[in-house]
Amino acid sequence: MKIKSIRGVKDILPGEIAKWQWVEGMARDVFSRYGFKEIRVPIFESTSLFARGIGETSDIVEKEMYTFEDRGGEQITLRPEGTASVVRAYIENKMHHPPSLVKVYYMGPMFRYERPQAGRFRQFYQIGVEAMGSDSPLVDAETMGMLIEFFKSMGLNDLQLEINSLGCKECRPQYRETLKNAIRQHLDALCNNCQQRYERNPLRVLDCKVEEDRKIAESLPKMGDSLCDNCQSHFTQVQSYLTTINTPFSINPLLVRGLDYYSRTTFEVTSSGLGSQNALCGGGRYDDLVEEFDGPSTPCFGFALGLERLISVLPAETVESIETDPDLFIVCLGAEADGECYRIAHELRRKGLKVERDYEASSMKSQMRKANNKNCAYVLIVGENELKSGTLQLKNMKDGQQNDVSLNSVTQDILNIIPLKNQASL
Ligand code: AMP
Repeated sequence: MKIKSIRGVKDILPGEIAKWQWVEGMARDVFSRYGFKEIRVPIFESTSLFARGIGETSDIVEKEMYTFEDRGGEQITLRPEGTASVVRAYIENKMHHPPSLVKVYYMGPMFRYERPQAGRFRQFYQIGVEAMGSDSPLVDAETMGMLIEFFKSMGLNDLQLEINSLGCKECRPQYRETLKNAIRQHLDALCNNCQQRYERNPLRVLDCKVEEDRKIAESLPKMGDSLCDNCQSHFTQVQSYLTTINTPFSINPLLVRGLDYYSRTTFEVTSSGLGSQNALCGGGRYDDLVEEFDGPSTPCFGFALGLERLISVLPAETVESIETDPDLFIVCLGAEADGECYRIAHELRRKGLKVERDYEASSMKSQMRKANNKNCAYVLIVGENELKSGTLQLKNMKDGQQNDVSLNSVTQDILNIIPLKNQASL
């Protein structure tokens, strides 16, 4: 019986990995310019971390977690998101000492038992960012601004940034009651899910995707009208900072997001290129989560973006510009040339060129075909005659131009012709 992968997961094959590595490299580059450093947290944690952190009434905790008992009888969950783990690590490793704004990012797989469909997987990859230790609206704006810069650096321009404020523990309870009272009048018309949400998590009714419910949601009272003065002023400042750096945004009063820990600013970036699962990135403030885990009061702001979705909307020009092709193919003709080809390949690889060769002692024609298939920029021909004459032929595969290179100074001659791209040389 053939063994197959689990439903909702997929392999990322060598042919597509260049895009992934390029996007990850770009994230490291852009985020480090804003002072973020990488944090690597475990892929599995105690189930209670997520149950408490994400919220018992969230879809994730209610029905999407991969939970199992390990051999020691401990309840373990494969992480469905990154923030809860980062908060745990922040407290456990006393990263709040000395008090400062801690800026971290993470990348890696997340696991959710969702119904698989285009753009939705059971194992998917996220890049996430957390700025921990300040409630300044500048942190919200700067982090969202960084995200938009990150997208722009990949040639993504047709994105929509939607923001909202969910208030704080001062003003939200009151709004929750107002909302519940308003929902009660429409209860029979709402979908089954929303009828349950009404009691436990009424804010989620606002972002239900069912068409009829959306119409009702639009008529319900909005958090924006119930914000306390502090939250109102915070939200106004966030908008003003975004305007300072010309970042277009719109306010979506129905934007709630599925995780319970958000307060004040929440946001989502969507791309029309994505179809029904159009959310590329979501995030916001979570000012109370660290304290809920018995850490010191630590207002935070963060986001997580989905790598599969991001990679699927990379513009064609961007994908083309991601250089993965080998620089050189060494065509090796005859057993005598074999050792010399190995030496030349070894030297050039040490210097930083991507070098391919044939391992099967094939004919000249077949090796040229391989060089072509691999899209090699140059071909070096090494045969008995070349070794005797001490002069080798280097052919540019794009324009057909040939250059003589001397066997004695082959490495340097080739490096004079083929430019080193950013490869690290040994
Ligand atoms: P969330 O952690 O739910 O706020 O999601 C943040 C981002 O992760 C979303 O905007 C998506 O891009 C991505 N994402 C969430 N769930 C999935 C999934 N099941 N499959 C693929 N990407 C996902």
